[in-house]
Amino acid sequence: MTNKKKEISIYIDEKLCKGCNICVELCGKDVFTVSGHINRRGYYVPIPTYAEKCTGCLICELICPELAVILEIKEILMQNAK
Ligand code: SF4
Ligand code: SF4
Repeated sequence: MTNKKKEISIYIDEKLCKGCNICVELCGKDVFTVSGHINRRGYYVPIPTYAEKCTGCLICELICPELAVILEIKEILMQNAK
């Protein structure tokens, strides 16, 4: 028997980010925090501080007005010993 495990990586393209914090506010798992890092456009770029809590719902990627959030989701097949 095999089980599936998700491996999720979250990237924010800081060149595109306009610091609106919509991703911070709408993530139901509070994955993002506002960082002290300012990009070249003069905006504070959020970071996925708690990426391990991400469920892969894709809301952040879909709602970012600048298309700055990119999720990479890999499904890993786990072999069950039973
Ligand atoms: S929603 Fe997009 S543009 Fe807004 S803060 Fe998040 S990454 Fe930046
Ligand atoms: S995919 Fe969903 S849970 Fe994961 S960071 Fe984005 S909004 Fe949060």
